[in-house]
Amino acid sequence: MTDDIRALLEEKPLIRDMAAGREVSWINPGKRPFAETAGKQELGPKDIEDAAARLQRFAPFIRLRFPETKARGGLIESDLKEIGKMRDCLNEKYGSALDGRLLLKLDSHLAVAGSVKARGGIYEVLKHTEDLALAHGILTPQEAADSSPENTAYRKLAEPAAREIFSRYTVQVGSTGNLGMSIGIMSAAVGFRVIVHMSADAKQWKKDLLRSRGVQVIEYASDYSEAVKNGRALSDADPTSYFVDDENSRNLFLGYAVAAKRLAGQLAEQEITVDGEHPLFVCIPCGVGGAPGGICFGLKQVFGDAVHVFFAEPVQAPCMLLGLASGKNSDICVQDIGLSGLTDADGLAVGRPSGFVGQVIEPHLSGEFTVKDARLYGWLRDLYARENVFLEPSACAAFQGPVRLMRDMQPYLEANGLTEKMKNAAHIVWATGGGLVPEAVRKRCLDVFFKG
Ligand SMILES: *Cc1c(COP(=O)(O)O)cnc(C)c1O
Repeated sequence: MTDDIRALLEEKPLIRDMAAGREVSWINPGKRPFAETAGKQELGPKDIEDAAARLQRFAPFIRLRFPETKARGGLIESDLKEIGKMRDCLNEKYGSALDGRLLLKLDSHLAVAGSVKARGGIYEVLKHTEDLALAHGILTPQEAADSSPENTAYRKLAEPAAREIFSRYTVQVGSTGNLGMSIGIMSAAVGFRVIVHMSADAKQWKKDLLRSRGVQVIEYASDYSEAVKNGRALSDADPTSYFVDDENSRNLFLGYAVAAKRLAGQLAEQEITVDGEHPLFVCIPCGVGGAPGGICFGLKQVFGDAVHVFFAEPVQAPCMLLGLASGKNSDICVQDIGLSGLTDADGLAVGRPSGFVGQVIEPHLSGEFTVKDARLYGWLRDLYARENVFLEPSACAAFQGPVRLMRDMQPYLEANGLTEKMKNAAHIVWATGGGLVPEAVRKRCLDVFFKG
């Protein structure tokens, strides 16, 4: 441990607790009123609109390639499900004392990739596809400027002539699992060659599924950063290869951010009001930061100060919290404070956060919770038993939000004048993955019992 880190631990009891592997709850001192940030950041509502329009243009193509998206007109979107029985369970079994409605955002069951990565990952592949299609004259600039539902020109992208051109290009990505699945499946559907660089944490079934789709999987004995580093180097050496950069990609981030406006429509459908009197609390599991960061950023653009976004991370891999609470952003990793970075929550097994995301979300994020692996399986089983929904362990981390909110966040609620409004609140647990988990692995997850 360096002197620098020793001084940090000395100075910050929170980081001392994190280094000891304890669960912590953190209120972000850097959060600003939304109005102060509007127009002052690198990305804004226009960029999110642009991403949403692009997804609309691709909808006819997606419908062709993935008929399961037909009911939503070729858009990849998930349900928002009220989970009243799980709320009662959290209150009775875990002392959550939650007032108001509890909902689950089922990105775990998004079409094509079965995880939140179906947002960012697929968006990035489509953006790259559009760029190449324009460069090769497969699409005209007029066709790429028309985002009306009547524009069916993008169906051309599924024709053999287009596929032949795409087959000359490669897409590569480093992944703990789910990003590789979304990039891999969509790239293969477009016709690209795909190479996914997977860290040691990646589950075997994810590698098997990708290989069955014709994706080349390279395995690393080391962690996620190493897989990314090698993937990037190999891709950079090949002019026809495109590298999806999970840590810095604006495209990924914007693909995630599109979720917010669609969520607003779903809340309205269920007659859930979000405004100054009716706060919305959202908890999202965090790995490198792109998915929860993009969603958080999008939600703030839509709901402003009425939405309160928290992240959840494993006690052994709380990279975003470490970056934000230390002020060091991506210049520090969890191993620096003696943590292992190892967790059963494979989607969250990231040791160093995205510096880009950390800086964009710092004024927006309300706080963070960290959680021990052992709890994830309890919630996984409770949710399955009460609501008949299966989530992978990573996704269950988000239940730490509603469980801890009323216990640990009183100073936040008071500071924001929310105490009297909690009976009007709605709570969303953002379920980030689980839809593609094979039956045998599900059974094993449901059977895991941790002691202690
Ligand atoms: C990737 C992932 C996350 C977190 O996303 P990041 O962009 O890495 O922060 C959360 N849950 C699941 C299931 C994931 O696959």
